[in-house]
Amino acid sequence: MRHGAAATWASILLALVLIHAGLAMPDTDQWLPLLQHRSALTHSMLVPLLILARWPLPAGLLAGGFAIHLAADLLSRKWVGYALVKLPLLGSLDATASQLFLAANLALGLVLYDRASTLAGARGPLWIAFAASAAVYFAINERYWLLLLPLLVVILLLRRR
Ligand SMILES: [Zn+2]
Repeated sequence: MRHGAAATWASILLALVLIHAGLAMPDTDQWLPLLQHRSALTHSMLVPLLILARWPLPAGLLAGGFAIHLAADLLSRKWVGYALVKLPLLGSLDATASQLFLAANLALGLVLYDRASTLAGARGPLWIAFAASAAVYFAINERYWLLLLPLLVVILLLRRR
């Protein structure tokens, strides 16, 4: 698909807005009724997957924001109480299961984001938007070593040219 500069900028803007939304949505479990913090419903790809069939592009870009959030949550210092993933009605996953759950959903989120960026016909620019959003989020949340990941994305993209 040939894309003009305007279309590329439009998809970058859309990606930034939806990544931002995806970053904020997991922790809505703190004030939504019936959910406990680190609920499996919001700390997973459930919401993006629910809208994927109808809106594949927005769903994938949203998944990118969820993925960045889950990456930062994976660096929790202690895997007790608040940090553990909670299943509605079933209680809490243990430390290992919580980490596996978040890691699996993070991986799925990256796949969904990659599909969406290809669909938009702007894979390179949208991964740069992703890397920039991740860098800002990790810096705000003081997950400093995670800053290496967005850096790696940019290096890989630049090497491909
Ligand atoms: Zn969280």
